[in-house]
Amino acid sequence: MSGLRDIYGLACPSCGNQSWLIVELVTLADLTSEGTEPFGDQYWGDASACRCPSCNHHATVADFAADDEPVSKDNHCSRKDD
Ligand SMILES: [Zn+2]
Repeated sequence: MSGLRDIYGLACPSCGNQSWLIVELVTLADLTSEGTEPFGDQYWGDASACRCPSCNHHATVADFAADDEPVSKDNHCSRKDD
């Protein structure tokens, strides 16, 4: 199984964890009197907030870059329930 270092060039700079990170997403949502209902694509990048659930290190995604390769500014993922 590939880790986040292999796929995204990311690993926790504090403890080295590269299996699970928590990132802030940007997405759109319908806002009605019932509340919000997210839809469509989700984006994250260098400036997104990122936290390591293993040691609680908190910084931006750019600070989790495991090597000199810049992290894409426009990473894209689709919602799993689409
Ligand atoms: Zn960590």
